Amino acid sequence: MGFFTKDIKTMDDLFLHGLQDLYYAENQIAKSLPDMIEKATKPELKAGFEKHLAETEGQIERLRQVFELLETDPKGEKCPAIDGILKEGRELMSEIDDEDVMNVGLVAAAQAVEHYEITRYGALIAWAGELGHANCIPLFRANLAEEKATDEALTRMSEKRFNPKAAESKSEKKPDKKPAKKVAKKAAKKAKSTARRSPAKSAARPTPTKKTARKASRRRA
Ligand code: FE
Ligand code: FE
Ligand code: FE
Repeated sequence: MGFFTKDIKTMDDLFLHGLQDLYYAENQIAKSLPDMIEKATKPELKAGFEKHLAETEGQIERLRQVFELLETDPKGEKCPAIDGILKEGRELMSEIDDEDVMNVGLVAAAQAVEHYEITRYGALIAWAGELGHANCIPLFRANLAEEKATDEALTRMSEKRFNPKAAESKSEKKPDKKPAKKVAKKAAKKAKSTARRSPAKSAARPTPTKKTARKASRRRA
């Protein structure tokens, strides 16, 4: 950030800033997960964190591919929000002794992280559409699908704790909806076909309204 000039002038600048913010966030999350894996004693939670660490490494790789598509070097921009969320989680863990309480605290801390990621990927997908970077969208969508699936798995774990029977019968009725990988694949296919049809309008979802699109083009002009 410059002191005398503001560095984010256009929607393109905002988009790149958001990407760099998330790249930094994913890297910090990858660094924090081993500690959470170590602290978790519930096998289901430990395994869930291990799985998400592997996914997070893949997400970082996808973000690198986005930088490549934009012909920019991968670079992180400090994200005070994720630093704060992770710091709060670490501080909480250092205050807890009881194993069961620790597992519950870890679930909540992890959900705070997932929710932050979900909002950020949502914004990047919308902006990529608006700016004509349709080729980046499937990569963002693949990451978003994994964050959402992780968040849902964490919710199921906490529901099970309060009402084990209800949580079980619920998961029997609708087992896992669509796996994240399937969702990501489908999104990639769709983005490809819309990109072929009309690159400028390939926005995919969510499509900006006429009003916001007009505003954006005025801003860019
Ligand atoms: Fe992530
Ligand atoms: Fe941020
Ligand atoms: Fe995540």
